[in-house]
Amino acid sequence: MNVRGLLDILKAEDEFEGFIRAADEARARGVGDCVHLRGLIEFSNYCRKDCLYCGLRRSNAALPRYRMAPGEIVEAALEGARMGLGTVVLQSGEDAWYTAGIIEKIVGSIKEQSGLAVTLSVGDRIKRDYALWRRAGADRYLLKHETSDEALHWTMRPGCGLGDRLRNLEWLMDLGYEVGSGIIVGLPGQGIESIARDVSFMRDLGVHMASAGPFIPHAQTPLKGCEPGSVDLTLRVIAAMRLELPWANIPATSALGTLDPLAQLTALGCGANVLMPDITPGPYRKMYEIYPGKVGSLETPAQSFARCRKIVESAGLAVGTGQGGCARLPGRAGRSMANDWTDRKDA
Ligand code: SF4
Repeated sequence: MNVRGLLDILKAEDEFEGFIRAADEARARGVGDCVHLRGLIEFSNYCRKDCLYCGLRRSNAALPRYRMAPGEIVEAALEGARMGLGTVVLQSGEDAWYTAGIIEKIVGSIKEQSGLAVTLSVGDRIKRDYALWRRAGADRYLLKHETSDEALHWTMRPGCGLGDRLRNLEWLMDLGYEVGSGIIVGLPGQGIESIARDVSFMRDLGVHMASAGPFIPHAQTPLKGCEPGSVDLTLRVIAAMRLELPWANIPATSALGTLDPLAQLTALGCGANVLMPDITPGPYRKMYEIYPGKVGSLETPAQSFARCRKIVESAGLAVGTGQGGCARLPGRAGRSMANDWTDRKDA
């Protein structure tokens, strides 16, 4: 589907029900009726970057900062395995304290002691680091491009070009990771055309995982006082992603559940097939404040896990077993977007 077709879907009014039904059917055909639970461990809230929309930005001096010790991270992952999870997602701000070697050892230790799939989400690094972690056993990597609108990207992520993100995404694909990208819906200055282009961008890149979460303003950022993103539009984006990327693992994001307690359940009927219970140990979970009031931040890991299971059951779907990887083989499947971007820049 071209961008105009996607735009029609995102704006659809009369045909909205049919569109959602089609996305739900595409989910059943593409990835089946199981919802995979990924245990999220947010191990450091230090970040060297200064994204305007994010509470972890380095300029936020009001946020108490923490780092989990490597052994604590491994133990949290093993606890996730004992709960019955098949995947852990190790996520942090861009924190250079965790050298490539430290992350390599954490990944290796988890892989040695469990059958878990390990997803990393630690931001922009050099290709050698990504390669080291892949060799240590990391299976997947999440690196959201946030917005493919080049000017908006530059404004929202000062000092960070879209082209660099694209290059990193392609490195990750070349290294054989299952690769995830994603967007924020409702950033100030973001048009609906740009969101349609984001969906088409992720399809063309051939990502294995795709996510969309609504923008939620944080009081300690320059975007405080801006309107949050629309839950309805985010659900439409999820449905459009499912239609365009039938093979992909697509989460019902926590940001949706933060704005509307029923929205993650609704998202499972719009094509989503993943939930991410937060299994970060108690003392830290409230401090990973990308946006305020995150759903589940006052729960224990076991309560987050139980709430996610309940959402799946309420949707009439089954909780997936095993690692729940993408059926599409790792590696670069789509066309080179970084080259496209470079060509445009040079034209
Ligand atoms: S969005 Fe990521 S890179 Fe940007 S400030 Fe937040 S944690 Fe750091």
